[in-house]
Amino acid sequence: METQTASKFHVLLVPYPGQGHVNPMMQFARRLVSKGLKATLVVSIFIAKSMKLGSYVGPVQLDVISDGYDDGGFPKANSIDTYLERLKAAGSRTLADLIMKYEKTPNPIDCVIYEPFLPWALDVAKEFGLLGAAFFTQPCAVDYIYYNIQHKLLSLPISSTPVSIPGLPLLELRDLPSFARLPDSYPAYAEMLISQFSNADKADFVLINTFYKLEPEAVDTMSKVCPVLTIGPTVPSIYLDKRIEDDDNYGVDLFPLDASVSSNWLSSKPERSVVYLSFGSFCGLSDNQMEELLWGLKRSNFYFLWVIRATEEAKLPKTFKENLGDKGLIVNWSCQVKVLTNKAVGCFLTHCGWNSTIEAMSLGVPMVAMPLWSDQPVNAKLVEDVWKVGIRVKVDEEKGIVPRDEIEFCIREIMEGEKGKEVKKNVEKWSELAIEAVSKGGTSDKNIDEFVSKLVKT
Ligand code: UDP
Repeated sequence: METQTASKFHVLLVPYPGQGHVNPMMQFARRLVSKGLKATLVVSIFIAKSMKLGSYVGPVQLDVISDGYDDGGFPKANSIDTYLERLKAAGSRTLADLIMKYEKTPNPIDCVIYEPFLPWALDVAKEFGLLGAAFFTQPCAVDYIYYNIQHKLLSLPISSTPVSIPGLPLLELRDLPSFARLPDSYPAYAEMLISQFSNADKADFVLINTFYKLEPEAVDTMSKVCPVLTIGPTVPSIYLDKRIEDDDNYGVDLFPLDASVSSNWLSSKPERSVVYLSFGSFCGLSDNQMEELLWGLKRSNFYFLWVIRATEEAKLPKTFKENLGDKGLIVNWSCQVKVLTNKAVGCFLTHCGWNSTIEAMSLGVPMVAMPLWSDQPVNAKLVEDVWKVGIRVKVDEEKGIVPRDEIEFCIREIMEGEKGKEVKKNVEKWSELAIEAVSKGGTSDKNIDEFVSKLVKT
């Protein structure tokens, strides 16, 4: 490929304004730059202002659109419905303005890579006659479930099980995306997720943040109805193929980092002696669940590093933090990929957000899966039964929480049990396959090359 031709080609990446969405698209943007394209990633005006972002993160240009809440973002909205409505209205308008702004420069936008949570972004791209690429930030299995729902091959709510979907393992109720089982729990989010495929047939490309060997049956099945390019994992290159310079973190943290504290603390601990816990950027636990978790941790008696976002911290008993001593460290936000590579970490107790899951697999860290909602139950099912890289906690259905003895049991199983040894071997194998996928000639690398060469030829 002629670098000169490619460097003129300008892609605009439009993620949903949340950490788990910005991260994979940002890393993908870096990869596209390393393949010779110009990439601009869009964040909301509120995120750019509050995080004091500059105009570049490494080689990726940043620009802004409005989510309708420039002075406070999502927390300022009265309801999820209102937020999503304003995001669509303000987002479409300001995305069109942005595309027009670049039309007047030597570097107009050629292709919009949008997250299908925001199908309107594709409509805007098409109004301007641009190429559009859907970028799914959840695994292929989950995307294919929503495809089936959108195409009325599955009707909601799904209540009789097991559910048999071609290319996927049989799914029980507890394995389904929460919005497929309980669409009325969060109707606006359910609608957003199901509508991902509302106009995807107009997209010129469908990209998924997964890799072929991880989900061969799901990818093959979905490819029959919608040509899919697997391009992941979108984990910073230093942890995988090491081919992209200075790609050692995602670069946009929506929460202030506590990084130096956690890495100093971690480095003082013996190999595989620490349980790392995080529930991602959005989910919260009930007060009761928080209490069971901290008792489970205490009883297991391992060191632990627990990410509790500042807005969640009030749920901890007041004296808990003071009485921790050296046994545990609570931080409000960590550089997760860096933590996961630290030899002291023996297991990751995770909510199974897709980024956290694929990061743990890429970095060879066994998991205790504690899914809460959305795609997380499906991811947890795959983690436990298909990839065999962790175990999943059992919920006490009557109380609706995971009790302390179950948490203790699962942590012990992974940290010191026979199961833990088996899981560690498996996860190391997946880590090698993840590296292979993005390395030169790997399945994702070839798909990215195919994507780039088709783009620049158009
Ligand atoms: N993350 C991080 N520091 C933390 C917790 C999470 O950098 O303390 C990152 C994590 O590496 C992942 C993202 O935030 O890339 C969370 O995405 P995920 O899909 O796992 O969960 P979500 O936040 O969307 O629920």
